[in-house]
Formats: sequence, structure tokens, C-alpha cells
Amino acid sequence: MSRLTLVSPLSGWCLPLDEVADPVFAQRMAGDGLAVDPTRGEVRAPCDGEVVPMKDAKHAVTIRAEGGIDVLVHVGLDTVALGGAGFERVAQGGARVRAGETLLRFDLDWLARNARSLASPIVVASGGTIARRAGTGPIAAGDFLLEIESAAVPRPGGASSGSAARAFVVPFEHGLHVRPAAQVAAALRPFAAEVAIVAHGRSANARSPVAMMGLAVRCGDEIEARATGADAMQALAALDGLFTRPAPRATPAAKAAPAIPGRIEAVIASRGLAMGPCVPWSLPEIPVKERGAGTDRESAALEKALAALGAHLDDVRAVARGEAAALAQAHIELVRDPDLLAQAQAHLDRGHGAGYAWRQATRATAEALRALDDPRLRERASDLRDLENQVLRILAGEPPSAERAFPAGAIVVAGDLLPSQLMALERSRVGGVCTAAGGATSHMAILASAAGLPALVAAGDAVLAIAEGTMLVVDAEAGVLRVDPPAGERDAIARMLAERAAERTADLRSAREAATTVDDVRIAVKANLGSFAEAAGALALGAEGCGLLRTEFLFLDRREPPSEDEQAREYQRIADALGGHPLAIRTMDIGGDKPIAYMPLAHEDNPALGLRGVRSSLAYPELLRAQLRAILRVHPAAACRILLPMVTDVEDIRHVRAAIDAAAREMGIEEQPGLGAMIETPASALLASTLAAECDFLSIGTNDLSQYALAIDRGHARLSGRLDALHPAVLRLVAMVADAAAGRGKVASVCGALASDPEALPILVGLGIHEISATAAAIPRLKRVARTLAASECRALARRALDCATAADVRALLP
Ligand code: PEP
Ligand code: MG
Repeated sequence: MSRLTLVSPLSGWCLPLDEVADPVFAQRMAGDGLAVDPTRGEVRAPCDGEVVPMKDAKHAVTIRAEGGIDVLVHVGLDTVALGGAGFERVAQGGARVRAGETLLRFDLDWLARNARSLASPIVVASGGTIARRAGTGPIAAGDFLLEIESAAVPRPGGASSGSAARAFVVPFEHGLHVRPAAQVAAALRPFAAEVAIVAHGRSANARSPVAMMGLAVRCGDEIEARATGADAMQALAALDGLFTRPAPRATPAAKAAPAIPGRIEAVIASRGLAMGPCVPWSLPEIPVKERGAGTDRESAALEKALAALGAHLDDVRAVARGEAAALAQAHIELVRDPDLLAQAQAHLDRGHGAGYAWRQATRATAEALRALDDPRLRERASDLRDLENQVLRILAGEPPSAERAFPAGAIVVAGDLLPSQLMALERSRVGGVCTAAGGATSHMAILASAAGLPALVAAGDAVLAIAEGTMLVVDAEAGVLRVDPPAGERDAIARMLAERAAERTADLRSAREAATTVDDVRIAVKANLGSFAEAAGALALGAEGCGLLRTEFLFLDRREPPSEDEQAREYQRIADALGGHPLAIRTMDIGGDKPIAYMPLAHEDNPALGLRGVRSSLAYPELLRAQLRAILRVHPAAACRILLPMVTDVEDIRHVRAAIDAAAREMGIEEQPGLGAMIETPASALLASTLAAECDFLSIGTNDLSQYALAIDRGHARLSGRLDALHPAVLRLVAMVADAAAGRGKVASVCGALASDPEALPILVGLGIHEISATAAAIPRLKRVARTLAASECRALARRALDCATAADVRALLP
């Protein structure tokens, strides 16, 4: 093994490839290395070697060093599109050069105005791995850049068994250039076969982007990929998605439009049913200039745009309610986030334009979020995309969000929807939403549920091909998008929607009345809350208090834990809004799927089975103490309860009880709030009787209880269809808890999502559940359903459900 030292071919600012706004380089498809943002228009040889001939490529140069190491210097991004303009080649293909010799020159100012980016990747395209690299910061041509270890690793399987060949047509606008060549090499990486691309009578190693670029293949050229090795066929199949297959020569048929299936399965983000014409919606990519007109000018422009957006968000927050207000607040925090601003400033200091600096900063942060284990934080990346777009619009002299008129009842179909776009849709009276990407717990999903807007996500790219005006049904109850349903089906859905609208009006009229079954069993219906802004609305929808206040949601998007005073103020506001109705304040459920920046929990391989819920509170006693003291300050104390998440056994209760006693003693408080345990683990369900003996009440969190009982991650996109809280295994645990609580004379309520499902209510009532805490919007209907039930019949139904073998069998029992 030998080592090769590379010196910088450019003077400028050295940066990691992750910061290069091109996935081909950022994802190392073209090879590993660094990038330099140049301040001089000259590329010098990074080492001794031979210039690899690359026809038609003035914007890039490759040096083949001793040992067959190929080093590619690519000036700027997408510069192939310039067709060589602005570049002057100094060293010709085949020339031998020494490190530091000039290879090419370019007009820096012209390129700054005409190229997408000047960031210039320098990558080891083949033949070695990087042992050491220069750090981020200023760099001069000739300074140390990279140390490369060359290792001739024989590829296994290359010489053996199968061989295959496949013809392709090159569909790329600029031929087989660095980007597609790198994609070819990346696509072949999982396979052992030797693959060559043959074109114009010459052959190149398909694992070397440089070698492929040397073939000078143009768009429309026919090439052949030849593979040898045990997985030759699979390797060629991997190229199918990149190239076009040549049409049979005799019948050059027009490309058929992709067939769109009549039913597209998707994930439910907000329950409901809607029918209307398809309105495709995409977010335009706003062009930005990489080079600015001077740091001071660009900094001032960005500052002004951020101030304008901050003011706009302040206005939005002032009139918004519920989740929309919480979202506006979160965006205000992000717009003022010091790290984000520092990242943008670093770009401005390097002479970048305001829009470019802001885009780079928001995208880098979004990328970092996407790389995290946690699905909720990953989905927050879309908030940053939203802010990126709003600031760029302001910089372009437009209002921060695009108002667009939609036909009433339209079904908006998009790749993904930003939270601010969703809010604009809500205002436009859109009927429903379906996105190709997205997740069920995204901010968009939460906003859609809070607004009662039926929404499907993760429907796949097929939805993006649906033509404008096509009749669509968003069935966000079955998790299906129906495309252009037949007339009979449309009529049936239209009737169903009309009936539902009439029911909703009637439900709202009786929402504030108590819910009692026909045989006089009182069913208490409370609301789950995540913010102050939701509280008053929940009462109007008939909530008889709050059965679950998710306190971790009150203090998201911050870097410091909330102080005792802040918490006390927030809890008191909510208690006041509830006007003396009961308020169950859950201690912070941090960890698992809800990591919080101010609580730096160590990495866990299985966070859902780790330090979350009450476990993380007990691990950070000072945070628990501050929260308990804040809750003890809420008045009237009699309306207040403390609820503990993720309890396993009575030890958890005893530790927290001791902490409450200590806090009450310190504060001279005698009357303590009731203490309840959430039943979210199979252990706590099995031990419900001993928990009920030491607690004042139990509350069943069916979301987590299902996840742990069925061993299905609640954020798992592919298994989410099987995560059904009506599974008989979960129902048996619920039945045990209800019986255990009744045996101790305590209340067992349900606060998981199952409580918001009106179809599940008869079974819950039949299992002995007489109190539920649900999404506020679902309360009027739940109360109406409760009034139609006979508890005796529900008990018979529940017995049959417990005897079922699968969740589908249980659902088949439902009326
Ligand atoms: C639950 O797990 O059912 C629950 C209500 O808690 P969360 O969804 O906040 O984990
Ligand atoms: Mg839970």
C-alpha cells in the first residue's frame, strides 16, 4: 500500500463535500474528497501525473497519478451546461504534469454570474481511499489538501461465472458526464460484477466516472453495458432506472403515459373523507445567485428579509389558533435561531448572495435533521424548507407565501406540503390533501388533523402523474386515494359526505351536553391538549376537561429547558382556559420518538426501549423537580392531576411520589393533585392492579401500548398498517386494566388515538372504559355515538372481540 499527497489545485475556501449543493458530490457518488470555493480562476495540478483525455470537458480535469489513482477537479456545479464557455484548457489530454502546474484557467467573475455554484469538488474518482484531509477554512493552491492510500483491492467475483450485456440509450442532456457517470458507478456499488460501458468502439470501466466521461458519449447515443461475474444480470438491472432502453427499431412507438392505478394505498395523516377535482401543486425552485454584491449589502438584504418574515409570522401567530399558532411560534424561533443565522453569515462572509447563504444554511440544517434517528425531527426538516422558501420569496420582492385560488373542495396533490402551504390551503377551503412523500406525524399532518382536513401522505410518486381536474377521493379512513372512481361510486360517496355534513352540524349542536348511553352509563369525554391555544376550542367542542396535556409539546424548539416559572405560567393559563374542569398534566414524555434538544440524551440503539417517559424524568431529577413544583403551583389544585408516561411498575410511582412529597414539603403545600399512571407498556397492563392500588387513576395510552404489545415501531412506514390498537392482543390488555382499576375502585380512562375513533367506542365501553380523552375535533361525534350505545350490548360485543384472532376479525365485528 502506498500513500499519495494531494495539494490544493485551487485557492479559496475549503469545505466538506456535504456542503456542496449537488447530491452527486455530496453523497460521494463521484468519489470522496473535498471542495474549494475558489477566489482565483486557475486550476493547478494536485499531484504529479497524466492528464486524462476528456473530450468536450473544459470545466473539469482529471489527473491519473501513479498507482492508477484518478483525481477529478470539477470547477463549479452544473458547469457542463456552459459548453466550455469561460474556460481555457492549458494542459491537454495525455500531457504529463508536475504538482502545481497550471491545468486550466477560468473567468471567475463570468462564472460567478453564469454557473449555479462555484463550489468545486476535488474527488478521488478511483484507485484510493482518503487517509487524511484538510480542514474547513481558507486554502491556497499548493497547500496540503488530501492524503490518499492506494490499495489495489481485487473485486471478488469479477472473473467468474455469468456474463450479460444490455443496450441502453443515453437520456442525459449533456451526455454521460460527471453526474450521470457518478450515478452509474454508485448504482453498481452493491454488485461484484465487472461492468464496462462500450460506446463508439471504445470501452470504459463503469465503476470509474472519469473513464466513462472519457468516452465522450452524447445524449441519444446508444451504448452497451457488459457485465461479467456471478451477479452480472443484477448489476445490469440496476442500470435500468438510469438509462432508457432502446425502442425496437422497426416500430418506434411514442412513449405511453404511465398508467395510474384506480386505487393508491397511502398513510393516513388526518382522518376523514373528501371528494373533489385534482389540483397538482408543486413548489417552484426559486433561483438564487451564489455570488453576492458585497458582504455588507447581502447581509443587510438578508437581515431585512428575515425581519420582514419575523413580522409576518408575528401577525400570523396573533390571529392563529391551536396548532397553527404553535407552528407560527416555532417558525419565529427558527427564523431567529442563532446557529442558523451563524451558518448563513459564514456564507455571506465568503461573498455569497443573501438568498444563496440562506438556502445553504437552511438546507444544511435540514439535512442534519433528516440524518437523525427520530422521525419527528426528520419531519421538522420540512419546516426549514418552508422558511427557506418564504425568505427567498421576500428577497425576490414577493409576499412570503404564495396565495393561490383553488376550486372549492379541491384535492391538492403535491410531492410534499410545507406547513405554511397547508395553512394557506386551509384558508382556501380545500377539500383534502394527498402527498407523494411525508409522514403521519409531520407538522403538516398535525395541522391537517387540527383543521379537520382529510389528508393522506406517503402515497408514492404515482400521484404526481394524476392530471389536473381528475376526480379524486381521499379516503383517509381506509388509507386509500381513489382515482377517477366510476359514477356509481361517486354518487355513493357524495351521499355519504352530505349525510356526514348534516351529522356534524347536529353533533356540534349537542356537543356540550353530557354523553350517557341508552342504559344510563355516563361516558366522560375529555380532550388531549398540546397547547394553550387549543384549550378554549376544546371546551366549545364539548370536552369535559383535559385528560392528557402533553407538556413536552409546550416547550419544543428551544435549547434551554423551561424554568419552573415558565411552566407554572403555561399550566395556569391552560387551567384558567378550562375554567375549573379537570386538567391531567403529563410529566414530560421525552426520549423515544420525542427527543428534545435541551435534554441531551445519549444515543440509544433502541430509544423506544430506553430512557423515555418517566424514566428520563427520573434520570434528570432537577428537571422533574422543576416540573412538579410548577404543577403544584396551579390552582385550583383540586382540578389538577399529575400523569406519568411510560410507567413499568410501582417503583416508578414510588420514586415520583417521593419527589412530589419533597416538593410539596418545600413549598408548604398540603393538598396534592391526584397521581395517575399511563398504561403504555405490557408490564404495566399486567401489573395494573398493583399500580391502581398506589395511584389515584390509570390512563391507557393505546399508541404506545400497541407498539410494545405488537412489537411494531409506531413510526414504521411499512408496518403502520398492521399497528392497529383494535388488535385482540391489545384489547385483552385494555380489558385487564379496566378490570384491575374497577377492582380497586379507580378510574381507568383511554387517551391514545383509539379513544378518538368513534368505531372503537362500543368496544371500549364494553370493556368497561367509561372515560376517554380524545382529539378535540372528534369529541362531538364521539359523544353522539356514545348516546346511541347500550352498555349491555357493548359488553357482548367486547367479549366477541376478545375472542377474535386478528385485528381484521375485530374490525369485521364493528357495525
Ligand atoms: C399513547 O401512547 O397512547 C399516548 C397517549 O401518548 P403519546 O401518543 O403522547 O406517546
Ligand atoms: Mg405514549
